[in-house]
Amino acid sequence: MQFSDFGLERRLMTTVDHLGFTEPTEIQQQAIPAAMQGHDLIASSKTGSGKTLAFIIPALQRLSKNRALSKRDPRVVILTPTRELAKQVYAQLRLFTSNTQFKAVLVLGGENFNDQVKVLEKDPHFIVATPGRLADHLSQGHFYLNGLELLILDEADRMLDLGFAEQLSQINKAADHRKRQTLLFSATLDHAQVNDFAKELLNKPKRIAIGGAFTEHQDINKRFYLADNLDHKETLLQHFLNTETYQQAIIFTATRSDTERLARLLLEQDINAVALSGELNQSQRNQIMDGFSKGHHKILVTTDLASRGLDLVNVSLVINFDMPKHAEEFIHRIGRTGRAGSKGDAIAFVGPKDWLSFKNVEGLLEQTIRFDCIDGLKAKFKGLKPKKPKQKPTKPNAEKLVKATQATSKKSTKKIFHSAQDVGDMPIIKRKKPLSAQYIEDTDLDEVE
Ligand code: ADP
Ligand code: MG
Repeated sequence: MQFSDFGLERRLMTTVDHLGFTEPTEIQQQAIPAAMQGHDLIASSKTGSGKTLAFIIPALQRLSKNRALSKRDPRVVILTPTRELAKQVYAQLRLFTSNTQFKAVLVLGGENFNDQVKVLEKDPHFIVATPGRLADHLSQGHFYLNGLELLILDEADRMLDLGFAEQLSQINKAADHRKRQTLLFSATLDHAQVNDFAKELLNKPKRIAIGGAFTEHQDINKRFYLADNLDHKETLLQHFLNTETYQQAIIFTATRSDTERLARLLLEQDINAVALSGELNQSQRNQIMDGFSKGHHKILVTTDLASRGLDLVNVSLVINFDMPKHAEEFIHRIGRTGRAGSKGDAIAFVGPKDWLSFKNVEGLLEQTIRFDCIDGLKAKFKGLKPKKPKQKPTKPNAEKLVKATQATSKKSTKKIFHSAQDVGDMPIIKRKKPLSAQYIEDTDLDEVE
């Protein structure tokens, strides 16, 4: 199948040609014709499979073929969970609108409100926005949605996870034209809230699911390495940064402070790294993401802030310095590489604190993961195994756990280390801060072998 088979409007087809795309991806093959027929859609496919064009193309087709329902109201609203993602969608949209009469604007949280009011007063045809800020403008009557033709929700599951349900409902209610069409894209369709939401927003939707949204990404070579502690992880990191071939890499850490610490460590070794942390204000974050996507930095060190949706074509290496808390996040993280058919490498370090997360990822991928090993950097840690289910915790153990849970003082922190050691846990990780609840959970595990 070719893009030319869709019967796209001439200018739209020219832009696709200019982009050098001939064959639509699987999700595009299914979503574009269904959306062009006017169906509501609830669609999912793995990251990097071309979902953005799967909604931009039918949106533009509809606008060029149909007359507007209103002279002033926006015709298409595209909502995304994060500002970074909104910018990326907007950039792709602009490639298509720049040679047309259609005006597209970007309305993001964290940016100047009054400037946005002026932009909205110019009656744009397309609005790409984060839901919170758009809902604010809507409440204040800076624009109306009665003539909206197409409402597009990109990464709907993520928007719901971020607590945007109320704003999405508000936007949905305001866009009340009977001819309105709605396209919902989500990384997974198993998300209960997404399904409830789909019932509220969509009218007899077609469901399109390409593979399991979490099926393995064939172009990403995943490798897992056991690690004893923080120092060991840092040594492994150095090793891979020296030996892997990559244009750009992203390193994911569990904590904000680690993003900065690692970036500093790399900079000291003349490796061009930058940290993206939640403590930065929006314009600083924008600057860092812009710089990284333009190739000004070789390495981005971040928490899960940057794991979703971003399309960074030169990233061919992702390192999970720490495993993510939620297994799905792993798929999103490694999906930052291997974009659109190119190959990628995803490396993960699994220490005692990562063990539960690792097991969840293993469950999600539905496979037994084998660990790779580097000569001279082999971990003593072999993994943990759950306690036998029937075995009730003995009293002293239970007491220990309660105490550990309450532990905040230096003294009681020590206690947690001890309980970790009691179950044969790894060489003690030297941490100044009290340990988190996650670590306490780990103490309920026995070492393998
Ligand atoms: P998703 O939203 O599914 O994660 P994106 O829409 O961000 O994926 O697309 C990922 C990459 O694939 C982008 O760089 C995009 O330009 C490219 N791409 C999209 N459609 C095609 C296609 N038909 N052929 C080749 N590359 C494509
Ligand atoms: Mg996307």
